[in-house]
Amino acid sequence: MTPAEARVNLSAIRDNLALLRSHAPGAETMVAVKADAYGHGLIPGARACLAGGADRLGTAYVREALELRAAGITAPILSWIIPPNEPLDEAVQQDIELSAASPGLVDAIAGAAGRAGRAARVHLKVDTGMSRGGAALAEWPALLERALSRQAEGTIEIVGLWSHFACADMPGDPSIALQLAAFDEALAVADKTGVRGSHIIRHIANSAAILTLPQARYDMVRPGIATFGLSPVPELGDFGLRPAMTLVARIALVKRVPADSGVSYGHLYVTDRETTLGLVPLGYADGILRHATNRAEVLAGGRRRRIAGRVCMDQFMIDVGDDPLAEGDEVVLFGDGSQGEPTAQEWADSLGTITHEIVTRIGSRVPRVYR
Ligand SMILES: *Cc1c(COP(=O)(O)O)cnc(C)c1O
Repeated sequence: MTPAEARVNLSAIRDNLALLRSHAPGAETMVAVKADAYGHGLIPGARACLAGGADRLGTAYVREALELRAAGITAPILSWIIPPNEPLDEAVQQDIELSAASPGLVDAIAGAAGRAGRAARVHLKVDTGMSRGGAALAEWPALLERALSRQAEGTIEIVGLWSHFACADMPGDPSIALQLAAFDEALAVADKTGVRGSHIIRHIANSAAILTLPQARYDMVRPGIATFGLSPVPELGDFGLRPAMTLVARIALVKRVPADSGVSYGHLYVTDRETTLGLVPLGYADGILRHATNRAEVLAGGRRRRIAGRVCMDQFMIDVGDDPLAEGDEVVLFGDGSQGEPTAQEWADSLGTITHEIVTRIGSRVPRVYR
């Protein structure tokens, strides 16, 4: 019995994926499994996605994709953040598809492909208005030309044209229609330049767009957060998704303290009567943000309790009053809410962040246990 664990419901992941696929009929599905499958565990998370019908997987970094390959996963994988000195040779050898947004990167990928003796499969990325990754529209034609000439020499194969939304989680935001129009324009430029063919996959939709923007589905969709059961647009509800992760800990110490006891660093919580405190063995090193001090709630002994005082590196306290509490009792920090526990969404709301940050920060000391 571990002091704390993150229980991951793999059947919830499979069901969420089936629901997402039903929103994008006719489109392929590439699940973003970056950041350890959003904290759920890269390999089991990826396998659950494939079991749920994912056609492909996506990662931020090449090393994440190489981990998937090393685990024996043979599905197509795209990696999209390629800083200098990434292991491109290994990526091409392992048949990992790569995103490119500059002629220089196309050349670097072509070089790796030449050494590997096989063509690299490349997705060209256009910046349609997020001003993050992707070639600016003004530089898009030059990127296409370079990719076409490398394709002609046989070192790369252009297999995708893609972009990413800045505000898909803000339905009705004017930038969404502008980005879609810019994407269509970029696709038209690609067609005119000679980058065309039914094998080319066009993709732009993240979870929020899959669920709210039918016109953004193109040939493939890229769900991330919704796969793990967390709503990409909380104001619109849960879309029928089921949270896959339940974070639990076991009370490590119970004690009675008198009224006016200052609790934890800085004495930011002071007991107003004689009471029972419980020590929860999880802290900010495990992803329980320090900002949760006196703020976030947990379920203990069948009732919600607010964190009492400062969240420390490895622990925090709860105050259960005169309720019974024993060492070894289970405390639920968040789950799907079915037992009255908070959800990751409630944690995100109380901390002023998004659920992506809540689940991806759960640290490596917390074992993932799969059901
Ligand atoms: C993370 C990511 C996604 C998935 O985003 P969600 O909002 O979690 O659905 C899709 N595409 C790219 C490029 C990403 O980086």
